[in-house]
Parts: sequence; structure tokens; C-alpha cells
Amino acid sequence: MANTSTDPSRSSGAAFTAKVDQDKAGRSKARSLRPLVKLWPFIRRYPVQLFAFLVFLVLSAFGSLAMPWIFKLIIDCGFGEAATKASICVFIDTDSGGSLNQYFLYAGIFGILFAISGALRFFFITRLGQRVIADVRKAVFDRLTYLSPTYFERVRTGEVLSRLTTDTTLVETVITGSVSFALRSMATISGSIIMMFFLSWKLAIMVLAIAPAMILPLVLTGKKIKKHSRESQDNLANASARASEALSGIQTVQAYTQEAREREKFGDDVEASFTSQQKRIVIQAGLTALMMSIALTGIIAILNFGAQEVLNGRMTGGSIVAFVFLAFLAIGGASSMTETFTNLLRAAGAADRLVEILDETPIITAPENPRSLGVVHGRIDFEDVDFTYPTRPNQRALENLTLNIEAGETIALVGPSGAGKSTVFQLLLRFYDVQNGNIKLDDVDIKALDPEVLRSQIAVVQQSAPLFSGTPYENIAYGRSGATREDVMAAAKAAYAHEFISALPDGYDTDLGEQGTTLSGGQRQRIAIARAVLRNAPVLLLDEATSALDSESEQAVQKAFEDASKDRTTLVIAHRLSTVLKANRIVVLNEGRIVEVGTHAELVSKGGLYARLAKIQFDQGAGLSG
Ligand code: ADP
Repeated sequence: MANTSTDPSRSSGAAFTAKVDQDKAGRSKARSLRPLVKLWPFIRRYPVQLFAFLVFLVLSAFGSLAMPWIFKLIIDCGFGEAATKASICVFIDTDSGGSLNQYFLYAGIFGILFAISGALRFFFITRLGQRVIADVRKAVFDRLTYLSPTYFERVRTGEVLSRLTTDTTLVETVITGSVSFALRSMATISGSIIMMFFLSWKLAIMVLAIAPAMILPLVLTGKKIKKHSRESQDNLANASARASEALSGIQTVQAYTQEAREREKFGDDVEASFTSQQKRIVIQAGLTALMMSIALTGIIAILNFGAQEVLNGRMTGGSIVAFVFLAFLAIGGASSMTETFTNLLRAAGAADRLVEILDETPIITAPENPRSLGVVHGRIDFEDVDFTYPTRPNQRALENLTLNIEAGETIALVGPSGAGKSTVFQLLLRFYDVQNGNIKLDDVDIKALDPEVLRSQIAVVQQSAPLFSGTPYENIAYGRSGATREDVMAAAKAAYAHEFISALPDGYDTDLGEQGTTLSGGQRQRIAIARAVLRNAPVLLLDEATSALDSESEQAVQKAFEDASKDRTTLVIAHRLSTVLKANRIVVLNEGRIVEVGTHAELVSKGGLYARLAKIQFDQGAGLSG
């Protein structure tokens, strides 16, 4: 396969762009806090931590509410006149200085209780938040590994990565910070309202009257804030997608001296993200100023009224002090809820993007009652197959393709670039479903099989990026889980890779760098062939390298391939004469159709497309196919 489906350049085009734009439009819709609710199943898994958090939340709220009450007692019992002393003062002899100290002692104890429970509340919520986000990250990645290639044609890898990192981090910070803060504020707000009513219902009603004035601006600006926040995250995701593409193709960027262009495009996305953040911050700052003004002027008005009440003897001095404390707690809590609420909206935006991935269903799934396979011989039949890539609905990639391949046969696929050769592989691996006709393995329609069972019967050697970072050992062992070191070495020997691997600094345990970049093309292919040999599957798909290999490498790859294809059904996208000469049949594709089938000699004498392609190969040493 010349290109895996994650290659975005492959799927560029109007349809793709339209789809991406459509996705974007869908994502930037302002929604509510609802996406956060979708995280509940992840939170529910840890009832003990959640319970511990709630207990310490209540305790710390209780601690902060007890303080104003204690101040009231200190003032009323300690300094008040006998006539206005509360009945509770009877319990302590307030006439001696010692008992006044006792009140301060109580205040101190409550202070410590408040501090400790606050710390434990922080501990449990942080732990819970981090645990939940670790689970969400794993769930998102799990889901991504199930998704069909079509998904990755729609959403860029870099963007997906940004969701996995930036968005999850944002949700984590918000769960551990804002959610905890919001709950604490709600507990202190409701507690202080109850206590304020207890102290003076008239003043309490006045405080409550301020509330709608504070909540209204919040509601009015919430959607805007969420929109800017999402915009900013989207732009950041764009920037990471761009950076990851540019950095993975850094040699192309530098060779074409496009550094400035890449920098500019990246810079534009980062600036766009900054601008959206600025808009959000301006709104938020204005909101804070407005809320603070309402809160402070409100409290001063209430104090004014309260002072009259004290002068008229309807309230004690301690009560008014406690009341103002409580009013500050309630109003302060309510006004800081603005920031908390906007943070929650930001997190909702991020959670939305994560839930989107979690809700994504793979297009290719196992049927309800999948057929099982006995010993697979490897007969493959394509029957009247029509196929169009979902991202290119107007262009048939394969048309009316019928091809019957005997078990053990070696078929060379040849044809100009874009003829549909790689598509044949993609369909056989069931990365996509055909629109018409069917594909059978040993007379079983592959749609009737679990894709995992189907793919376990196939070993594939891709042309580009066939290796992962790691060692040759890890890369070969990837072919079959549970393979021993001996198995891996035997496979490497069969693929003519043992010798050069042994000559590497640490042999089989040499670090190969990202995608095996420290090896030559031929060496990478031989390791990939060793992996396929280790898989020991009845069907082998091989995409020969288009780039010229040095003759020694080429011979080794050729021999490795020949050995590997023995006793297996083999389909090879052939670029070399030596390969086509060894094939049982050559299938020539052009524009998604089979135009010729035969042996090299037969096809050359026919004088058709193959003969022309072969002539180019002989005359100019170029490849047989694109
Ligand atoms: P070949 O391997 O013979 O070069 P392919 O099978 O890769 O050709 O491509 C066949 C046709 O399908 C081409 O027109 C190509 O542009 C298109 N195509 C290939 N992969 C995709 C994809 N993932 N999405 C959309 N179109 C694709």
C-alpha cells in the first residue's frame, strides 16, 4: 500500500475540505454544560473518593460558616451589655477575661478544623480528577484504535492528539479546581443564607435581592464565553495538527525552503487562538467589574440599614458583624461563581470534543454472529466489486473488479499510479466496505467475518512507514503476540535481515529512531518482511518499494519476498521486473479496472498497456508502476 489512510495528502480535495468544515461548524456550536455530565460514568467508578470529598466539603463549609458565629459570640458575650447578651452566654462566665480567651480558643480550633478539612477536600478531589482523566485518556485512545481509516481522513492526527492532551488537561484542571470550588461555594452560599435569615430576615431578603442582578449578566455572556473558548481550542488544535505535519515532514519543508511559510501558518493559528482568548478575557474582566460593583454597593446599602437596626436595639453588634461576614461569604461565593462558571463552560467545550470521539462508532464492525474459519487455505475471490472512497464520492476507485485467486498463487498487481492497486489491499483488509459485489476468503464473504479474525489471516508489508520507533526485535515481534526471541530471529533470517541486524551496535536491541529512520529503505523493508514471516498467515500482501534500492538490498529483499510467498497466497504491488517474472499471473489495472491478465511473456506479446509499461522499465530503468 503506497499510502496508509492516515496520510492526509491522499484525501485532500473538495469533499474532504467540505467534510472538515462541516465537522468544525458542528463543533463550534455553543452548547451547555451537558458534555460534562457525560463524564459522570467515569466519576461514578470511584464512590469512596467521591464520598470522602463530599464529607470534607461539608466539613470545610461548616468550618467557614462557624467562624462568623463565633465572632458574634465573642462580641456579644465578651463586650455586650448584660441586657442584650444572648442566652448562650450563660454557659460561660463572660465576666472574667479567661472565658473570653476560651472563645478565642474555640475560634482557633474551628480555624484549624477548617484548614485541615479544606486540605483533605483538595486532596480527594484532585486525586479523583486525575484518576478520572487518566481513565478518559485511555478510553479516548481505546476508541481511536477501533475507528476505521475514514475517521482519520476526516480528522487530522495532530488535532486528535491535541484532544488527547490539551483537552483532557483542561478538563482535569477544571474538575479538580472549578468543580470543587463551585461545590464549596454552593455549600457556603446556602449555609450562609440560612444563617443570615436566622440573624435578620429583613437584611437577608435584601441580600437575596442582589442575587438576580448578579446572575443575569452571567447568563447573558455565558454563551459568548463558551464560543470564544471553543474557538481558541480549535485554533490551538489546528496549530498542533500543522506542527505535527510539518515536523514529521521536516525534511520536505526544509528541502523546499518552506520554513517561513510553515512558521507563518502556525503563527496565524496561534495568534487566532490568542485573539479568541483575548475576547473571552475582556468579557470576563468586564463581568467581574460589574459583579463586584453590584456586590459591594449592595453590601454597603445593607450595612447602612443594619446600622439603623442596631441603633434601634433590634439587632446586637455581634449579629451585624456576623451578618456582614456571612453576606461577604455568600456574595463573594456567588460572584466568584462567574469565573467558575466560565471555566466550567470552557471545560464543557473540551469535554464535548472528547465525548465526540467516545461517541464515534467504527464503520467497520463485526457482524452479530460472525462466521468462524477452520484451516484457511487462502483462496481469494473478488466478485464484481465496485468501490468508491467515502471522501471521494464522485470517483470510482475500483469498478466491476472480478479476480479469482487460487490458494498459494502469487499475483503481481501492476498499473499506473492511481490505478487502484493499493485499494485492492485496503478492501481485502476490510478497512473499507465495498459498495457492490463481494470479496471472499475461502468462499466466505469477508463481511461475515470478525475483522480481527480476517486480518489475523493476512500479513502485510507496507511500502511507507512500515516500522515503529523501537528496536528491530520489537518491530519484528509486532507480527505475532507471544513470539519468542528464537521465533523473531528465525523470521529475521528468513527475511535476510539477520545479518545486518546483528551488525547494528546493539544488534536486535538497537534503537532505530522514529519509524526506523536510521535504516536504509531496503533494510526497513526486510524487517517489515520478517514481521510478516513471523505472522505466518496464509495470505501475504506486499507493496514493493518504489524507490531504487541498492542492488545488494534489492537482491536480499527479492529473496526474502520469494521465500515468504512460498505456500501462501501472495498479492504484490510490483515495481520490479524480477518480481513480475516470478509471479504466477500479472494483473494489470488501469483506472480501477482490470485491463489485462497473464504472464510476462503473454502480456508483452499482446502489446497492450503492460507491454508499454514494461518497455519504459527496460528503456529507462523506471518502475513498472506508480
Ligand atoms: P495505486 O495504488 O494504484 O497507485 P490507489 O489504489 O492508491 O492507486 O488509488 C486509486 C484511486 O483512489 C486514486 O484515484 C486515488 O486518488 C484514490 N484514493 C486512494 N486512497 C484514497 C483515500 N484514502 N481516499 C480517497 N481517495 C483515495
